[in-house]
Amino acid sequence: MLEQSGGGALGTKLRCSIPCLRLHVLSLDQSTASPLNYSATQLPRMNWNRKHLLDIESLTAEEILTVLDTARAFKAVGERAIKKVPALRGKTVVNLFVEPSTRTRISFELAEQRLSADIINFTAEASSFKKGETLKDTARNLEALNADFIIMRHSASGAPHFLARVLAASVINAGDGAHEHPTQALLDAFTIRERKGKIEGLNVTILGDILYSRVARSNIWALTKLGAKVTLCGPSTLVPGVFEKMGCRVTYNVEEAIREPDIINLLRIQHERQRKTMFPSISEYAGLFGLNRARMEQTKPDALIMHPGPINRGVEIESDVADGRRSLILEQVTNGLAVRMAVLFLVNGGKGPQGVAA
Ligand code: ASP
Ligand code: ASP
Repeated sequence: MLEQSGGGALGTKLRCSIPCLRLHVLSLDQSTASPLNYSATQLPRMNWNRKHLLDIESLTAEEILTVLDTARAFKAVGERAIKKVPALRGKTVVNLFVEPSTRTRISFELAEQRLSADIINFTAEASSFKKGETLKDTARNLEALNADFIIMRHSASGAPHFLARVLAASVINAGDGAHEHPTQALLDAFTIRERKGKIEGLNVTILGDILYSRVARSNIWALTKLGAKVTLCGPSTLVPGVFEKMGCRVTYNVEEAIREPDIINLLRIQHERQRKTMFPSISEYAGLFGLNRARMEQTKPDALIMHPGPINRGVEIESDVADGRRSLILEQVTNGLAVRMAVLFLVNGGKGPQGVAA
């Protein structure tokens, strides 16, 4: 049932998404704003009417920007002495993680605590959910406890979409197979916008295992909708040319891929999703595509480095680079909290940043 409802992890989702691709351009001029006060030049957006956050593909640029503006308001809350707000008081959130996760789960849980929600953690091995019926039964049981929100991580693409159809609760996708990881893309976009003052017109290279990466898919949707130019690079077995149909440029020449970008987003090799090894060896991958000190010297001096974690030091990224001045890796983690607070707030009926208590 899951298979049917979700579609193939790679084929179906990609194929049906291509005709819908629209490149949205920001309507508000951010290009003259400095990175630190960009929002002062903008009107706050109040554009959210969705009950679920299942993917980035179906969001408009305005909706994405509403999340980013709302997250900015929540980041300000996080800098106060009292960091808690009552937005979800009396509401129950279930964290349903049917695939291992540490950071994403902790980040959601802290976001829920900061919003004063009641929290139920439910972790399980995917093997106990082999049949779609089992997942449905579990979800119905959770609903019988009057869960208002279900945060779901699952190894099957489309699993959160399935839950959203059968349950009354709001569903937030925390990563489904190789399909999407929407909150990761939102926190990445937030981090880029905070550091560069804008997204439109930036060059962003995503380097690594694109084929099996839900982070890559969600980032491609978010960045192209917001007007960035996206280049994909990695071994040809992991970066199929079909991604050009999503509005990206594909290159297999790493030197060329790192020369121009303002942002280089590195991805881990997703061993758990590969049915066979798609490249000769880890050390060969590190040599051919790893971001090391020598390659950093070929990048623009103000190019910034991102990675969704967990990082493999010495493989896709050398320690020097991961811990260096131009690495945004820990800022991404910090921003993830504000972005997840914003998403929960919005799916609970919040309309935009103006609703966030000052
Ligand atoms: N893929 C995992 C996540 O997003 C990585 C981790 O948990 O450390 O949460
Ligand atoms: N944490 C990200 C994910 O869950 C990236 C990764 O695992 O490499 O997809």
